[in-house]
Amino acid sequence: MDTDIEVLIAGAGPTGLLLAGELGLAGVRAAVAERLPHRTGHSKALNLQPRTAEVLDCRGWLAPVLDRSLTLLPAGHFAGLPLDYSALDTAFPHQVGIPQARVEEFLEDHLAQYGVPVLRGRELTSLRQDADGVTATLRGPDGTESICRARYLVGADGGRSTVRHLLGTPFPGRDGRIGMAVADIELAPVDGGSDSPGEPWQLPDLTPDPAGVAFLLPLGDGVHRLILGGPEQQGVDRDAPVTDDEVRTALARCPGPPRALRAVRWASRFTDASRQAERYAEGRVLLAGDAAHIHAPAGGQGLNLGMQDAFNLGWKLAATLRGRAPDGLLATYHAERHPVGARVLANTQAQMVLTLPDPDALVVRELLTDLLTVPEANRRVAAMIAGTDIRYPMPGAPDHPLLGARAPGVRLPGGRGALLADAASAVTAAASAWADRVDRLDRGPLAAEGEALLVRPDGYVCWAGPDDDTHELRSALTRWFGLPLR
Ligand SMILES: Cc1cc2nc3c(=O)[nH]c(=O)nc-3n(C[C@H](O)[C@H](O)[C@H](O)COP(=O)(O)OP(=O)(O)OC[C@H]3O[C@@H](n4cnc5c(N)ncnc54)[C@H](O)[C@@H]3O)c2cc1C
Repeated sequence: MDTDIEVLIAGAGPTGLLLAGELGLAGVRAAVAERLPHRTGHSKALNLQPRTAEVLDCRGWLAPVLDRSLTLLPAGHFAGLPLDYSALDTAFPHQVGIPQARVEEFLEDHLAQYGVPVLRGRELTSLRQDADGVTATLRGPDGTESICRARYLVGADGGRSTVRHLLGTPFPGRDGRIGMAVADIELAPVDGGSDSPGEPWQLPDLTPDPAGVAFLLPLGDGVHRLILGGPEQQGVDRDAPVTDDEVRTALARCPGPPRALRAVRWASRFTDASRQAERYAEGRVLLAGDAAHIHAPAGGQGLNLGMQDAFNLGWKLAATLRGRAPDGLLATYHAERHPVGARVLANTQAQMVLTLPDPDALVVRELLTDLLTVPEANRRVAAMIAGTDIRYPMPGAPDHPLLGARAPGVRLPGGRGALLADAASAVTAAASAWADRVDRLDRGPLAAEGEALLVRPDGYVCWAGPDDDTHELRSALTRWFGLPLR
């Protein structure tokens, strides 16, 4: 029995790997158990939204991720309707075009420096929790079982989460109504034409069409991503293989020059099923990423949502394990992230309605297209898809325009909190009693003269006020970081 682990994470997808990195950074002994024996190299998601780019930049990890990216797209979309990201107040007004497999590769390689192992070929098959921890069974490729004991378990094991099933957590919502498929393919030019799909990384055209949706994106190395959704994909079992005929039919519908299919490298079906776990925490077991919520991939949000779940959870779990967490800190994970997930479910459902081959959907689409030319409407919807408009409730803190919002541009490479304040201010002196958890950073452009901001390790502002208000600052520090050293 392995008893040296503080947090066992089931699932080495983007959610589990980012969480493992956050725990490793905080010095927590974590391990990731992954059912698959090796990385597949296949990617469902192809993008990072601006808030995820900010999250990575906050820890100083964005540059190496950008090095692995294919493109930067200065736009997002809502059901294929373009959103101008230049309207966002962020240093990263782009979708980063990067296959999910490359994000996972970066995150996993990065874990090595903390000594956090990814135990491949280990499937979590059972769990039992008691007052002190969780005992999980991991099954290896040859069927042998090992027992793992940890203080906490996180189910980051995807939409069909075993952890969620074993917990019996209700997963209300609805099944899929629209069937679609994705195929990574090699193309052959036809009649002297080019095998290029045309302009790289255009936003998808999701205008309702009875013949169905079909569009291509270049992934490099001669591979193209084909997304297809037409009559042939409806009512088909989700696990049924995608046939070459389906791919050819969709390929013929793609705009641009004629192209022939050379080979299908990977293909998979998906639906617009929309469900969310009723609780993200059951005792010492937590759920994150697709294990906690599933929805249509409309707008490119799922991976981003999962990584941001992980970023919210990591520091809270670490503080809890170190015995420094104030009462109720871990419970704020569900309280903060469940509404964010619910909002993504709602917006993806709305987007899918706009893609239905129904004349009424077309009318709503035209109306929305017109509305999105209004700058404020574009900004609102863009910020929702980009994830930059998230605001968490910060009970007990005096109101401020930045309270509960992210603090863009604030770097927290050590995964600690930060007080943005002048060095000579009274709040700086007061915060020194939390110096083991909170760094002082220059006030920067976010706080006005005479003001200070307290930023949590996940980059959200949990207090803002005058830089002589030591009383309010102390209570915010205690509420989010626990009791002072002395
Ligand atoms: C076609 C398609 C396109 C998409 N495009 C986008 C996009 O462009 N942008 C975007 O943001 N999102 C997109 N998504 C969604 C995105 O891919 C998911 O939200 C993301 O993969 C969730 O990450 P995760 O780590 O939570 O779960 P997963 O990526 O599903 O990872 C879970 C891991 O857990 C492992 N596992 C499962 N069961 C066990 C077990 N019992 N024990 C141990 N390990 C286990 C699995 O093998 C897997 O490695 C898309 C989804 C689909 C289907």
